[in-house]
Amino acid sequence: MSRVQLLQVNKTFDGVVAVKQLDLEIQEGEFFTLLGPSGCGKTTTLRMIAGFYYPTKGKILFDDQEVTLVPPHRRNTGMVFQNYALFPHMTVFENVAFGLEVRKIPRKEIRDRVGDALRQVRLDGYGERRISQLSGGQQQRVALARALVIRPRILLLDEPLSNLDARLRDEMRAEILSIQRSLGITTIYVTHDQVEALSMSNRIAVFNQGVCQQVGTPDEVYNRPCNTFVASFVGETNLIPVTIQEVTEEYITVKYGDYTLRVRQESEKFPVREGENHWYLSIRPEGVQLASESGPNTVRVQLQLAQFTGISFQCTSRLDDQQTLQALLVNRPNLAGSLRAGETLWFHLPENQLRLIPAH
Ligand code: ADP
Ligand code: MG
Repeated sequence: MSRVQLLQVNKTFDGVVAVKQLDLEIQEGEFFTLLGPSGCGKTTTLRMIAGFYYPTKGKILFDDQEVTLVPPHRRNTGMVFQNYALFPHMTVFENVAFGLEVRKIPRKEIRDRVGDALRQVRLDGYGERRISQLSGGQQQRVALARALVIRPRILLLDEPLSNLDARLRDEMRAEILSIQRSLGITTIYVTHDQVEALSMSNRIAVFNQGVCQQVGTPDEVYNRPCNTFVASFVGETNLIPVTIQEVTEEYITVKYGDYTLRVRQESEKFPVREGENHWYLSIRPEGVQLASESGPNTVRVQLQLAQFTGISFQCTSRLDDQQTLQALLVNRPNLAGSLRAGETLWFHLPENQLRLIPAH
C-alpha cells in the first residue's frame, strides 16, 4: 500500500507532448482511474509510475520518497498490460512464477505464492495449462495473478478488460474490485470507458490531449463537470450556448434565442456575470422531462427520432436549426407508440438539472 504523487510531470516523445504539467496525488488504498479518449496520455502516465518511461520533467514520489528515475524492478509495482504480455509458450505456472524467479525467491515459496495468486483470480488447478489453451478471460486472470504474486505496493492496470466481451467485462469488473478491496492495495486503473470508471473508482482523473482536466469522485465528475469536455466525455449531455441575463442569490437567468431559462445557483458555482455569453447550459438527457404544455423552463421541440430500448425512450429532437436536444425518458411505458417523428413536443428543463459550464 502506498501513496503516489506526481508533481508537474511532463513527457514528450521526439517533440510530441504526451503528458503535460501533470499533478496527481493518489491516496493509500485508493482505486484511482485515469479516464480519457485514445491517445490522451493514460498509458504514458501509467508507464511513468511503473518506471518503464522516465518523465521529461517533474517528479514521482511513492510515500514521499522520490522514485522518478528508479528502474521498474526496484519500484515494486505490479502491472497488467493492455495486451497481457504473457509468454505464450510457457505454462500458467511459469508465467506467474516468472517475477519471483527473477527475484531469486526459493522454489518452495514460489510454489506457495503462485498457488495463492492463482486461487485469488480463481484459476486454481490451471497451473500446467499453456497460455495458448486459455480463453481471453482466463489469460486476463493470469496477467492479474502475475502482477499480484510479487506483492506489489501499487497495482497498475492498463485497460485490462478491453479485450473481453461485454458480459465477461461486467464479471471481471466486480472481481477486480473485490480483489482490490480485500488486499486494500493502491490501484491505478486506465480506461477509456466512462461506465467502468464511474462504477469502479474512488476517484477519477479525466484526461484530454495530455492534460488532466478534472480530478474528482464519480459523483463530482459526472454532476459537477468543470468544462464542456468532461461534461460530454463522462456521460452524454446537451450543451446549449446561452447569454447570462440576471444573477441573484438563488437563481441565474439565461437566454437562448427567445427562451428565458432559470438555473438554480450551486454552492460551488463558477463566477457568472450578467451579460456574459461564453457559457453553455448543460443538461443530461435523463434530466429532460416531457411536459404537456408550455410553462417555466419548457422548450418547444420537433421530435426527430424516438427509440424504444426497453427501459427507456431515447428521443432526439430539434430546438431550432442549430440546436438538438437529447432526452432519455425512463419508465414511461404509456409512451409506446405515441411518440412520432415530426411531432411537436414540450420538454421541461428542471432548474435543478441545469448547470452552467464555461465555454473555454
Ligand atoms: P492513451 O494510453 O491514452 O491512448 P498514450 O499514452 O499511449 O495514450 O499516448 C499519448 C501520446 O503519446 C500519443 O500521441 C502517442 O502517439 C504518443 N506516444 C505514446 N508512446 C509513445 C512512444 N513510445 N513513442 C512515441 N510516441 C508515443
Ligand atoms: Mg493506452
